[in-house]
Amino acid sequence: MKQVEKTTTQTKQKNIPNAASLWRAVLAEMNLCLTEYVYKTWFQSTKAENPTESSLEIVCPSKLALDNLQKYRSLIQESVNKIAQGNYELLFKVGKVESNAARGDTKSAMNPPLFTSLQKSANKTTKLNTRESGLTPHFNFESFVTGSNNQLAYSVAWAVAQSPGKQYNPLFIYSGVGLGKTHIMQAIGNKIIQDKPNLKVVYTTSEQFTNELVEAIQSGTRNNKYTSNKFRKKFREADVLLIDDIQFIVGRESTQEEIFHTFNALHLAGKQIVLTSDRPPQDFVDLEERITSRFGSGITVDIQKPDLEMRTAILRKRRDENQDSISNEVIGFIAEKVDTNIRELEGAYLQVLLEARAKQENITVDFTAETLGQRVPDKRTIVNPNAIMNAVCKYFSISKTDIKGRRRTKEIVVPRQIAMYLLKDMTGTPLIAIGELLGGRDHTTVMHGADKIGQKIREEPRVEQDVRNIKQLIFSM
Ligand code: ADP
Ligand code: MG
Repeated sequence: MKQVEKTTTQTKQKNIPNAASLWRAVLAEMNLCLTEYVYKTWFQSTKAENPTESSLEIVCPSKLALDNLQKYRSLIQESVNKIAQGNYELLFKVGKVESNAARGDTKSAMNPPLFTSLQKSANKTTKLNTRESGLTPHFNFESFVTGSNNQLAYSVAWAVAQSPGKQYNPLFIYSGVGLGKTHIMQAIGNKIIQDKPNLKVVYTTSEQFTNELVEAIQSGTRNNKYTSNKFRKKFREADVLLIDDIQFIVGRESTQEEIFHTFNALHLAGKQIVLTSDRPPQDFVDLEERITSRFGSGITVDIQKPDLEMRTAILRKRRDENQDSISNEVIGFIAEKVDTNIRELEGAYLQVLLEARAKQENITVDFTAETLGQRVPDKRTIVNPNAIMNAVCKYFSISKTDIKGRRRTKEIVVPRQIAMYLLKDMTGTPLIAIGELLGGRDHTTVMHGADKIGQKIREEPRVEQDVRNIKQLIFSM
């Protein structure tokens, strides 16, 4: 609140943004679209000050931070302009940053209000649409590299962006994490906004959809069964509805109900629907048939892991765009070493780049090998399934025979499902193998169990705590 008082004198004037809240919103966005490493290293300890109608000063704690932050100038620029709805010149400088103002508190990102006086928007429709749609502009088709692993997804996405609601409806995209679902889905939205600014595009995640629904139920008029008019208006008046990570609706009855009706209303009206998920529609063992059959009623495409050639191409493109001084040889090395997913790949690349800059070293293969060697490996690759089984049994004081056995009392079922969840989440073990580990259970049972715990973690603090404790136990055993 202190920050608000400090800036009130400035914000009294028309259209001068509140620097603290604007910057918090920008940081929240950066936090979402950059790797944790980059965000924490260069963004977290920054602040914005001295806003005017057309400029904003960004304060970095050191020259090094300033140099690195400048690399993201266009991204920051885009975000500032979008959030503050204007065209701001960014002035980077080194200065003192007090810790409170610098924290990117994402929860209160839009609070206090950005402007004290309501801005009469004279901005172009496109800008406004991007802002209202919930999309991030840099997830576009141009920055999406294609290869055999994602060619079909790309082509279909492109076709949908050309003629939404016509040919492929709904479009259902699924893949493992970090392989480009959100990127390609948002590319569709961004393209449509650009080419057809009169269409209303709405991007949401199923988590966000649920939150808004809960809010609507709590505060909404009771004329409708569940939802307030505002909520309905937002989703049912969309021309293009993009729902990311639909798997999280499992176990949420009212969300499912609302999605079902929203889906039907839009589909009937010929509006485009795009959904993403970590699995194909038929693998939702815990959803009603009427829902999964709708998910799969249009076209379903998957994105596979990228091969070496593709990983190399992605890094080269990034290098060329940013004009990073990093050789093909080093890129080849990183691409070979990091084969999990594209998010990890980009994270490793940036880590090497930033580490070299911080230490003022040349990026040789040796330097890269050393840097990546220190990289905390993806937790998926280091946890042994047996360690998980041992930790779960120890934590709940049950035997391996119990956890693998047939007993279905609560004392056994919950630990068993927690084991399913952790094995799925922390190891690369295929579901079928997890089923084997747990006494020859079916892979759909494993999926079901893991989903159940995923849901309980969000809803029951007790379970969340248990899972956290067990994870600690795994690493301390
Ligand atoms: P998912 O939603 O499947 O978890 P994202 O769409 O968030 O994955 O992608 C993770 C990161 O990898 C993002 O930074 C994204 O821009 C990048 N990425 C994914 N696929 C590609 C691609 N084909 N070309 C370029 N970058 C990609
Ligand atoms: Mg995603």
